[in-house]
Amino acid sequence: MATTSPEKRRTIGVCERCGKPTVVWVHPDGSVRSVSGHNACPCPTPSFRPVRDG
Ligand SMILES: [Zn+2]
Repeated sequence: MATTSPEKRRTIGVCERCGKPTVVWVHPDGSVRSVSGHNACPCPTPSFRPVRDG
């Protein structure tokens, strides 16, 4: 019953620069942004990569 949703989904992402995990939004276009905004990690331009946990 898995429906493909056009909505963004929440998952765990890891910053590719500093390796810090945080909660991120994954948008339908593939962009990943931290839920908490710019304070997710100390990087000036963080680049989060979504990970599958479990
Ligand atoms: Zn970082």
